[in-house]
Amino acid sequence: MRTQVGIVGAGPAGLTLAHLLQREGIESVVLEDRSREYVEQRLRAGVLEQAIADLLVESGAGERLRGEGIVHEGIELQFDRERHRIPLRDLTGGRSIVIYGQTEIVKDLIRLRLAAGLPLLFEVGDVSVDDLESERPSIRFAHEGAEHVLECDVVAGCDGYHGVCRPSIPAGVLSEFSRDYPFGWLGILAEVAPSNDELVYAHHERGFALLSLRSPELSRLYIQCRPDEDLAEWHDDRIWEELQLRLGLDGWTLAEGLILEKGITGMRSYVAEPMRFGRLFLAGDAAHIVPPTGAKGLNLALHDVRLLAEALVSWYRTGSSELLDGYSDACLRRVWRAEHFSWWMTSMLHRFDSGDDFDLRLQLSQLRYVTTSSAASTSLAENYVGIDRI
Ligand SMILES: Cc1cc2nc3c(=O)[nH]c(=O)nc-3n(C[C@H](O)[C@H](O)[C@H](O)COP(=O)(O)OP(=O)(O)OC[C@H]3O[C@@H](n4cnc5c(N)ncnc54)[C@H](O)[C@@H]3O)c2cc1C
Repeated sequence: MRTQVGIVGAGPAGLTLAHLLQREGIESVVLEDRSREYVEQRLRAGVLEQAIADLLVESGAGERLRGEGIVHEGIELQFDRERHRIPLRDLTGGRSIVIYGQTEIVKDLIRLRLAAGLPLLFEVGDVSVDDLESERPSIRFAHEGAEHVLECDVVAGCDGYHGVCRPSIPAGVLSEFSRDYPFGWLGILAEVAPSNDELVYAHHERGFALLSLRSPELSRLYIQCRPDEDLAEWHDDRIWEELQLRLGLDGWTLAEGLILEKGITGMRSYVAEPMRFGRLFLAGDAAHIVPPTGAKGLNLALHDVRLLAEALVSWYRTGSSELLDGYSDACLRRVWRAEHFSWWMTSMLHRFDSGDDFDLRLQLSQLRYVTTSSAASTSLAENYVGIDRI
């Protein structure tokens, strides 16, 4: 088998890259180790920066997003039992965020690709990438009982944090940077209309909570928990009780509903540099992850592949490798801005058991500053909606 770009992973990064390349007449094959059903049901992010929503719409993958995406012009920060609105749109010259589930983006892109009859293989096994420093890198994999070798011009490693591409880079090439946090998020998807028009990020002495949504009928809610929390100890009543305590305000109650899904997400910051080795280009979670507090993981993945697609188009059209050579540095500038913002939001909003209330006092001071100073709230807003040029 032979193609121009071999893409490992059919998450948002891999599928968007394949879509952007196809529009420019560049062939690719997408290989995914899970089933289509699994990939389409995997509940994850849901906050899109405006530039990313625009990218999907302008590239022809946003028909449903345009109709069903919910534009939010602000978010709320809650502390000391009061809510304070950060008017994102007013502070950023008119930019907003769009609520649209990652699962929906994935479904839209899969449907488009399969409808066009383009290669997207699910449930491949034993994936390995070889000859990455040559001009003919290849991907070996098993599919439907047969072994295959896919020869490519370049390989795009879009296979997430636990994929095979990054570990295939020889030891000593990558510099890795990481931070583990002493907590996780217990997240639920509930069949109930969101109790607030905008997202609420709540600082509370019992720990952080977030009120979010996926649609006008589905609420997405999170509470800070231990990283090794046993989900079995969290029966539905206990989850709602804890959410009521952390999000509750005088005169406002959180509407409860049937919990459709629950899960625990660990919190980690991680960056591998550079995002390239020979003809292998890493994109998205394969190269970097952020704690979800800044809503940046999905957005970063799509910013990466936008740059990678542009660089590949330029390379195929002109023969110049300038953009490909600059790919890693260009991505990493945005990645580190998002790493800082996600770390900063996480540090400001979560409870750290440091033995005294020093951290707590600092957090409250920072929250008061962010909600009263226009300079500080503008900084939060421009990072949250996504910085254009960095
Ligand atoms: C539980 C969870 C909750 C999250 N919540 C949020 C959130 O609220 N907000 C936010 O902004 N971000 C969130 N994120 C992060 C966000 O979802 C990711 O940043 C985003 O999915 C990155 O997309 P990706 O395509 O780079 O990687 P992924 O979505 O991880 O896609 C990688 C794909 O590669 C496949 N794959 C892996 N190994 C192989 C292999 N060997 N061969 C072939 N295919 C392979 C995987 O099955 C997967 O389909 C969350 C992440 C997790 C894990």
